[in-house]
Amino acid sequence: MVRYRLLLIGLYTFLTFVGHPSAFFGQKPVERVTRISVVPSPKSVLGFEPGDDRTIADWSQITNYFSVLDKASDRVLVQELGRSTLKRPLIVAFISARENILALDKYKDIQQQLADPRRVSTALQRDRLIATGKTVVAISCSIHSTEIVASQMSMRLAYELATAQDTETTEILRNTILLLIPSPNPDGIDIVADWYRKSLGTPYEGREPPELYHHYAGHDDNRDWFMLNLRETKAITKLLWREWFPEIVYDVHQQGSNGSRFFIPPFFDPPNPNIDPVLLRQAGLIGHKVAADLQSAGFKGVLTNALYDTWWHGGFRTAPYFHNSIGILSEAASAQLMTPATVTSEQLVRSNTRGMRSAAEATTNFPDPWSPGTWRPSTIRDMELIASRGILSLAAKYRSTYLRNFYELGRRNIEETIPSGQPIAYLIPAGLSRDEAVAKLVGSLIEQGVEVFRLDNELHVSYGPQILQRTNSTSEKLGTYRSIIASTTSVQEVPAGSYIVFLAQPQRKNVLALFEPQIYPNRLTGTGEAERPYDVAGWTLPLQLGVEAPAILSIRESGTERKLTLLKEENEVRADLALPLRTSEASPIKNPIRQSVRIGIYKGWIGNMDEGWTRYVFDSFNVPYSSLRDSEVKQANLNSKYDVIILPSQRSREIIEGNPNSNLPEQYRGGIGEAGVSNLKDFATTGGTIVCFDAACELLIKQFKLPITNVLDGLKSSDFYCPGSIVSISLDSKSPIAATLPSTLPAYFINSSAFSTTDPAVRVIARYAKDNVLRSGWLLGEDKLRNQIALAEMPFGKGRLVLFGFRPQHRGQTWATLPLIWNSISITAK
Ligand SMILES: [Zn+2]
Repeated sequence: MVRYRLLLIGLYTFLTFVGHPSAFFGQKPVERVTRISVVPSPKSVLGFEPGDDRTIADWSQITNYFSVLDKASDRVLVQELGRSTLKRPLIVAFISARENILALDKYKDIQQQLADPRRVSTALQRDRLIATGKTVVAISCSIHSTEIVASQMSMRLAYELATAQDTETTEILRNTILLLIPSPNPDGIDIVADWYRKSLGTPYEGREPPELYHHYAGHDDNRDWFMLNLRETKAITKLLWREWFPEIVYDVHQQGSNGSRFFIPPFFDPPNPNIDPVLLRQAGLIGHKVAADLQSAGFKGVLTNALYDTWWHGGFRTAPYFHNSIGILSEAASAQLMTPATVTSEQLVRSNTRGMRSAAEATTNFPDPWSPGTWRPSTIRDMELIASRGILSLAAKYRSTYLRNFYELGRRNIEETIPSGQPIAYLIPAGLSRDEAVAKLVGSLIEQGVEVFRLDNELHVSYGPQILQRTNSTSEKLGTYRSIIASTTSVQEVPAGSYIVFLAQPQRKNVLALFEPQIYPNRLTGTGEAERPYDVAGWTLPLQLGVEAPAILSIRESGTERKLTLLKEENEVRADLALPLRTSEASPIKNPIRQSVRIGIYKGWIGNMDEGWTRYVFDSFNVPYSSLRDSEVKQANLNSKYDVIILPSQRSREIIEGNPNSNLPEQYRGGIGEAGVSNLKDFATTGGTIVCFDAACELLIKQFKLPITNVLDGLKSSDFYCPGSIVSISLDSKSPIAATLPSTLPAYFINSSAFSTTDPAVRVIARYAKDNVLRSGWLLGEDKLRNQIALAEMPFGKGRLVLFGFRPQHRGQTWATLPLIWNSISITAK
């Protein structure tokens, strides 16, 4: 059997390589595309059926299978998009009918014209594009690597589309072009595959690996789609939003084991106000089609209209809404990696979420609960295959509707009349003295396809910063907010060299969602507790970066009098600002810490995303550091190796105890322990500096018995709640840590901390604002935060402690507050 398989592979490899020795992940030469009848199945290449119990294909096996398909099938073309953070190839497989694969460039050009209706001059031209184009669908698998099944499923999906001859598949191939991404996080596939293989047959089989499955971001690799910090997001954003503009994007995930078996849209509330309703309706339609297909095929436990909302903007399936595309998410219940899980009736009864009272109770949006028992990876695979086919089949049947809707959304965004007093553009004025942050902001915008212009002449505008103001409310705690523009009546001059982002562009909604403050609706449960949003509530990009970006309400110069240059890449901005250019993958940013300081960043065995993002920020700014593991903290004399130790946000108990009760091997279990706490104390007493972020402050406060309390400790969410919002802090400019900065800054608060003290030894560097604390997002119970300590410093023996109540480096996005970290470290240097 094995020999026969090898012979077959050898045969078609020979056939394909004879004519075309150079073709590997490249453009398929026209003459090469001939029908080869033997397209090898995943099983014939891997030796197992992908998705079956206790099997796993790693990244080289997956990419190898796709290269096999690329060679064997005239319906498949595989391209490399670039390299991952740890240098693995990122790939996409284009799958369509032979004649479409031969004409990919033509279809890409059609998509680019439909994406920008300014390139379409007549109704006839529009109708021709719609009549000729194909629905472009992107399917992305296992961005979250422990949600591993979809990456395995992708090979099966590709094989079926490459070989099936039935009417439905033929229609799909003829009318759609599929961009199949087996995983946008190849590094994570290998982290999980290596760990899983090691765990097979041990007591910890199927447990998650004791590290982040993305080098920097872990699970937050799907929180980056408007910021584009990561190589993976950059490369795929280019493919999707600068080249191919898919009408439908399907992001395949898994959720916890004990709830519904499969979630599919419609989504839950609240919707983001900048999503066009037609997209929400189309997401609902596609979701219901998939749910009905799954039901017909005999699968149970399918849930719609629950948990997952469309408020926030940074996910693989949420970014498409702001590019006029439909974003679909599915969340299958997880097995234990590739090992079957057992789910009890009790677990199902206890499982509930927004929109689902219990996983055991039938409701209209959950009409057929699943019965408890064994839950297999192969079931997840089969459900995901049905979902993928359901989406592709709609995309094929309603091809012209999808293309027309997509075009019309772009057209409306360009032509929409803006009432006077509302923004027509946002401005990034020249001379802000935040050059790296300006370059980052403009660079991220350009990379996601937002048009940014440089003013080559000065301009006269009326404008004002957009701020949130509390509206009158009977309850202080429940005060709601509205966004107002502090507009000036006088016309002001904007200097040449400023940047301007007009709203009249196909991505109008993206610009609004990035530049406006978010006003999350007050959503409370029946008992008055805050109803938790799916992700964060506020993310306004210029605020996070600390870049003033006022709204422009009107411009005096006529369109023909303006002198504007459309920017093509971040380096143009870097050149304007005399910053070193990006010439390679390495970051050109200059280390902001002049002195030599030995820095340790604590890294435990519980994968901590805040730790990963801390490394990301230090690497991006070229600040050298070492990762400090538990074993090292447990050894005495930390001062011999470090001047500064950083504790990223993590609960004190996790730092001290690690994974105490897990059945992981001993080496991954404990935390720093009592010995580690005592060594950290010695480190500070004998002259070291400890800088801690948010939750980690608890370790110092409790274990070092500091005269500081976290005033938010123990508050109910009915009294105080702030789940990922931008708040205002005021700085004491007399402190060396704040000296170089403005007197107020936007800071990121995500269920964070606020301190009080009566001890004069504690030096207050920043407080939450006295009023108008919220800048963007959701803040319930503002009175609890007002004027409390946000950042403090205190001597400890011969050393010092710096306590950040908020997250100064959240997800690598909050550049506004990064200088506070650099300054905390710099003043340590002797
Ligand atoms: Zn996920």
